Amino acid sequence: MPVRVLASLRRTGSRPTPRARMTPTFETFRRLAAFAALLLLALPANAQPVLIRPARVFDGVDPTPHSGWQVLVDGDRIVAVGPSVTAPTGTQIVDLPGETLTPGLIEGHSHIFLHPYNEAKWDDQVLHEPLALRTARAVVNVDKTLMAGFTTERDLGTEGAGYADVGIRQAIDQGIIPGPRLLVATKANVALGAYAPKGFEPGLAIPQGAEEVSGPDDMTRAARRQIAAGADVIKMYADYHYQPGEPSRPTLTQAEMAAGVAVAHDAGRIAAAHATTAEGMRRAILAGVDTIEHGYGGTPEVFRLMHEHGTGYCPTLAASEAYARYFAGWNGREPAPESVQQDRAAFRMAMKAGVQICMGGDVGVFSHGQNWLEMEAMQRAGMPAADVMISATSRNARIFHLTDRGEVRPGLLADLVAMPGDPTKDVSAAEHVDFVMKGGKVFKGGTR
Ligand SMILES: [Zn+2]
Repeated sequence: MPVRVLASLRRTGSRPTPRARMTPTFETFRRLAAFAALLLLALPANAQPVLIRPARVFDGVDPTPHSGWQVLVDGDRIVAVGPSVTAPTGTQIVDLPGETLTPGLIEGHSHIFLHPYNEAKWDDQVLHEPLALRTARAVVNVDKTLMAGFTTERDLGTEGAGYADVGIRQAIDQGIIPGPRLLVATKANVALGAYAPKGFEPGLAIPQGAEEVSGPDDMTRAARRQIAAGADVIKMYADYHYQPGEPSRPTLTQAEMAAGVAVAHDAGRIAAAHATTAEGMRRAILAGVDTIEHGYGGTPEVFRLMHEHGTGYCPTLAASEAYARYFAGWNGREPAPESVQQDRAAFRMAMKAGVQICMGGDVGVFSHGQNWLEMEAMQRAGMPAADVMISATSRNARIFHLTDRGEVRPGLLADLVAMPGDPTKDVSAAEHVDFVMKGGKVFKGGTR
């Protein structure tokens, strides 16, 4: 018979709550105790198998959840899934009544080294925040992300924080800090003179938010340097504005991006392009990138081309909404401002063209841990809730070539989360993730 245990495996690890009021000595002790507790919970993965019994299972692929299914986890893998799973003697049971168990959510577009622009302008973050400060924020940000149910995150550039994302990934993988499995891009690549910060004496070397390249050979060298440093993704800016107030224009040539793609693919990595103009998108698609980010200025022709080439699309609608709140005084109520409506229209064009749509919000522009804002924005823009859930799990996994996750299926990683209600009916259920398992280890327990 399985051993029933309380599902209250509430995580006792680091919390971003009032630390300033504690004395250093007590704080040190508290952290050590919390860390020891986390180790006890998390290592080894689980001595015994774990049987999870939610109300229903959304498997990441089927839009209809499976009522009454159970999931058996052994070590870091899912070993059995179905309506009547036989659990070996000594199996722990986690009951999650009323909850939907889903694959760990996958964030497709983040910046763990950025924090919301209404807290500090992007320029100020890049120019005036020391690397250690930015890294401290990143440690907190990845914790919040995991607690929100995102067990994988594709981070698309440190925005001036060099290669520090590689160290954060290592700290997570070594169990030093909690966080999602990270795919990192390190510096990202922009055309020489086409990014920011700007507005200084011409010719002075000003720290930039990405690596500046000029010419295909230069892109090849930059991409190789980034991969050598630990990059999983080569990120390129297909377009950008040259001066504040100007519209975005194509920046990198197709040949420059093709050079970056070739290096990435040879190394078994993926390539992503920031592109908001139709021409920037067209060049990036023909250069062979795996995903296009934003795509706000996409046309039906460009989205058809994406469909033909199998290019994934990360719409980042939540970033569009955040910009409208920060800079246009939008209060969040409908009707949304023109800019948001146009971006939603591009998203619907992409859906209509059959483009593979990724779930990635450009989180960092808005608060880490609120990654679900993009899921809600996609739903608001017209995507059915179940389809949003598929994008946030199996579709993202497929677009990012992650064959070991994104579904609730035997053999895959036991990255599983649960939330009250049914997110395939309304994705706002994802605001309330209260169970998080990554690689068979419980990081956030049930509440009952
Ligand atoms: Zn971004």
